[in-house]
Amino acid sequence: MTETFDEALARQLAALRAQGLHRELRRVDSPQGTRLQIGGRRLLNFSSNDYLGLANDPVLKDAAKAAVDRYGVGSGASRLICGSQAPHHELEAVLAAFKHAEAALTFSSGYTAAVGTIGALMGKDDVIVVDRLVHACLVDAARLSGAKLRVFAHNDLADLEHVLQRAGQPISPARHGQRHPRTLVVTESVFSMDGDLAPLREIVTLKEKYGAWLMVDEAHATGLFGAGRSGLAEALGIADRIEVQMGTLGKALGAAGGYICGSRTLIDLLVNRARSFIFSTAPSPIIAAAAWAAIDFVQSPQGQERCARLWARVEQMALLLGALPCSVLRPVSAIIPLILGAEASAVAAAAHLREQGIFIPAIRFPTVPRGQARLRITITAAHTAEDLAQLTAALAQLKPEG
Ligand SMILES: *Cc1c(COP(=O)(O)O)cnc(C)c1O
Repeated sequence: MTETFDEALARQLAALRAQGLHRELRRVDSPQGTRLQIGGRRLLNFSSNDYLGLANDPVLKDAAKAAVDRYGVGSGASRLICGSQAPHHELEAVLAAFKHAEAALTFSSGYTAAVGTIGALMGKDDVIVVDRLVHACLVDAARLSGAKLRVFAHNDLADLEHVLQRAGQPISPARHGQRHPRTLVVTESVFSMDGDLAPLREIVTLKEKYGAWLMVDEAHATGLFGAGRSGLAEALGIADRIEVQMGTLGKALGAAGGYICGSRTLIDLLVNRARSFIFSTAPSPIIAAAAWAAIDFVQSPQGQERCARLWARVEQMALLLGALPCSVLRPVSAIIPLILGAEASAVAAAAHLREQGIFIPAIRFPTVPRGQARLRITITAAHTAEDLAQLTAALAQLKPEG
């Protein structure tokens, strides 16, 4: 007897359960914030990327409400048909200025920004060189582009140079009229699951030495790093040497959507070639207006204060964690991974914390490599010193083996 459709799928799900890799949605009955209403309980939340506490901030809510009254809800069509409403243009102008770039283009998510952009720039004769730990959207984008994918060891400059040396060799003899093969290096500035920083200055030097292009995903740095808080590239003074600057409007900026910043030519090419931009309904003007307000806020003195509060909390957490028996590296971003190894250990630790009233889901394969399951703790500017103390007390009770 052959399996039915649902039997075949149920078998896959059972295999995931057996490996401790099954996932499920948890319904949240509250806005985003340091407290989440889940299953009738109020849990202290250390899992969100809403680093500046903007997702439910009046600054964004007021901008969204004003946009509803002025523009309604839906955008009606893709940007190239009739959906290119004023808030998208205003947002892209402030975004480009924020990033000190010539131009910016927004997408419905960071994921679709990656897929559309890499697909527009790279083809089957090209080589994409990625850090082993880059986000899944960058790997998917590279695969979808049809280019050759090369991986270098995480933050390892010697390995990157080695890969670039080999990538520079022509893959096949250039045929008449064909363009030169291109090499694109892709990395993150702050790694999403480890919270460590890429050696961006050295990567810029290397990609220039080998005539490659560079794309940097600032998903976890935008709004947080640099004097103007536009990201790590700004903090290091190398933004103008990065061909493609990418990020999301959905993390520290508290809204939703993805962006690309760069030269006017890059943006013009994407408008013509990025399929995830062209063949998708424009994001709601409400969300564009909210993201625009978030960028204005981040650049204001209040934004500076909010960001300083986040870094003060990260500093406090570093001190508290230093006193715990577990080995945690000193945090350099708002992301603090507590690596437990086995998938089951991470799941058990997350369940234990939930009993203590703390919400930190277990992060497992395929989000991180197998056997490197972890609790990914994220600190936000909205947490209080008491919140951090409560977390530390609960972590101290975790058995070393989970
Ligand atoms: C979240 C994330 C993305 C995707 O952005 P979305 O706007 O959520 O689609 C891309 N890159 C990294 C590193 C991320 O963490």
